[in-house]
Amino acid sequence: MTEIVSRTSFEKGSKLKLAIQKSGRLYDDSMKLLKECGIDISNGVNKLKADANNYPMEVFFLRDDDIPQYVEDGVADIGFVGENVVFEKKKSVEQVEGLGFGKCRLSIAIGRNEEYTDSKFLQGKRIATSYPVIVQDFLDKNNIKADIHEISGSVEIAPGIGLAEAICDLVSSGSTLFMNGLKEVEVILKSECTLIKNKNLNEFQQQLLDKLVFRIQSVKKAKNNKYVLLNAPNNNLEKIIALLPGMKSPTVLPLATVGWSSVHTVIKESDFWDIIEQLKDLGAQGILVVPIEKMII
Ligand code: ATP
Ligand code: MG
Repeated sequence: MTEIVSRTSFEKGSKLKLAIQKSGRLYDDSMKLLKECGIDISNGVNKLKADANNYPMEVFFLRDDDIPQYVEDGVADIGFVGENVVFEKKKSVEQVEGLGFGKCRLSIAIGRNEEYTDSKFLQGKRIATSYPVIVQDFLDKNNIKADIHEISGSVEIAPGIGLAEAICDLVSSGSTLFMNGLKEVEVILKSECTLIKNKNLNEFQQQLLDKLVFRIQSVKKAKNNKYVLLNAPNNNLEKIIALLPGMKSPTVLPLATVGWSSVHTVIKESDFWDIIEQLKDLGAQGILVVPIEKMII
């Protein structure tokens, strides 16, 4: 009993250690998410690690490829990293929550003039990639034998210099492929930045993580929803309310002008344009759509 009490008080003085990318595509969004979660990081210019000012958290700035290993070893308790890296590294870590940024796909691409019907095209071919593990899994699943050439960068030039007939690389818009005379023929993984955790967190670390995940979910929900205010003619009020489910039900307040009400509610960003059109058709006026900062349901 005494031992548990003293260990807990030691842990209370400790911090949740988070690993994020030091610089690159995930850095800005990772820092932004922490800020939106109310966690203030004072980072110097040549930063390797930094403390949060208002959360028991220490942030390590690392190469993204190294993050799963650090989290498996427990040097970091949690990390923000692309699923593509998590699947490639195959470390013993747990995925906790998608973070909604760093979206991309890992795709096979071949010369623009080649004809591609299905994955059998790859039989006996050479594939250049920085993701040998994921590509091998894909080939095994499809019973294809091909040579994987692992290269660490500029994969898209491999066909042009005669190193390979196909590549497998990350794509977001496809413009890099196009500029190199390639076309995307197969998406083998859709990826986003994700929160991973060490599998042996203690109770205190897990509590800090649960609090962080709660904040992340509130930020994500808020981004997916909009607050809508509008003026509705009372004769169509019921129909308008039927279009606006809201979190419980919409707030309806009488306007000073007789025969009109003010309606407030929350709608999904994805439903937004559909509903707005229908509201206008029902005579709604003065429609305001406002972003929501945090949403706790
Ligand atoms: P590091 O120096 O940390 O190793 P990196 O060069 O490997 O950086 P970045 O190019 O910064 O990595 O990409 C980091 C992550 O961003 C990728 O692993 C992927 O999850 C995500 N990402 C999103 N869109 C793209 C894209 N179009 N191309 C490459 N990565 C993307
Ligand atoms: Mg990297």
